[in-house]
Amino acid sequence: MPELPEATTISSQLSTYINGSVLRKLIIKRNSIVKNGDLIKDIIGLECIEVNNYGKMVYFMFPNYWVVFHLALTGYLVVNPRRELFEHSIAEFYFDDNVVVFGAKRMFEKMILYNEYPFDKYGPDFRSVKPVDFVKIMSKHNKNIKVVLMDQKVIAGIGNIYACEALFDSRILPTRSTKNITVQEYYRLYNSLKDIIDLAVNKRGSTISDYIDAFGNKGEYQNYHRIYGKKFCPLCSSKVKTIKIQDRITYYCSTCQV
Ligand SMILES: [Zn+2]
Repeated sequence: MPELPEATTISSQLSTYINGSVLRKLIIKRNSIVKNGDLIKDIIGLECIEVNNYGKMVYFMFPNYWVVFHLALTGYLVVNPRRELFEHSIAEFYFDDNVVVFGAKRMFEKMILYNEYPFDKYGPDFRSVKPVDFVKIMSKHNKNIKVVLMDQKVIAGIGNIYACEALFDSRILPTRSTKNITVQEYYRLYNSLKDIIDLAVNKRGSTISDYIDAFGNKGEYQNYHRIYGKKFCPLCSSKVKTIKIQDRITYYCSTCQV
């Protein structure tokens, strides 16, 4: 579930504790969730240069090594957590003065180690995309707008919640083809995404079910959702419609969105 706002919240909270500290010990509790675990021995004793996120993925960067976390539905990364968060731990990172626990209640999460830059296969992180490039990138495709928005190989960071919210805010039906969306509408969508993501980061993300930030707290942006999970449109009071797009429930108003 974590999308750009949640990953940004977690990485910026962690960075103040972890940037510049040395990884002293790494305990793996669930091997099946860790990929390229043979690289673990190489990163012990290295300084973590940066904690950041690329789209939805949070990563620790060491000299020539990256540890990338896919938080999927129930994953969390918490610094110096309370006891019960150790119960579902997958990996425990012991830095100089702080512990970071990567945990998850289910098994869809992943922790992948790399010894080369790991993000070449993804599109640019939304935060680095300028409006003019957004139009170019999106209109190259000829598919459903919501599918393209959520495709991490096109632009990284946007998932179901923020796609629903931004399409509603910019009054665009989620079922339209990217080829039939005007430049003006693309600019509107871009601005909606930017405003929504900025406010969501400010509110430390959305907690629908399991998401918690790096201090173990729920986000607050769910209180600002206007269409996602709603029964009635906040603008015209029509019943909110839902359809499944790529197996994700998509919320929209067929009156306000065209
Ligand atoms: Zn409406």
